[in-house]
Amino acid sequence: MAYVITEPCIGTKDTSCADVCPVDCIHPAPGEENADTATMLYIDPSECIDCDACVEACPVDATMAEDDVPAQWEVFKEINRAYYEQGHEAGEGMVKQYLESRG
Ligand code: SF4
Ligand code: SF4
Repeated sequence: MAYVITEPCIGTKDTSCADVCPVDCIHPAPGEENADTATMLYIDPSECIDCDACVEACPVDATMAEDDVPAQWEVFKEINRAYYEQGHEAGEGMVKQYLESRG
């Protein structure tokens, strides 16, 4: 399993989760490439150790265990994974597509 960042991060993106993650698997963190332009932050599922720290830290409840992701945000599991497997542009493109489909 891994943790996932979901829709409420979009437009909030305060990076508190990246500050507390013990394995630095949340990106782009402040100062990193694409940090200023990213729509949201993303969790690397291959690095996440399921510690739960990011859940407590998030002011808008955007972070959650994969198994707790509600149906309407199911695609964010794929979005977080794609960001690391396919790159920044691919992840951001999927977020854009999600927002357009939501209307
Ligand atoms: S659950 Fe822990 S390891 Fe996984 S992203 Fe959140 S803070 Fe990082
Ligand atoms: S703490 Fe929540 S809103 Fe802030 S960057 Fe992390 S997931 Fe997004």
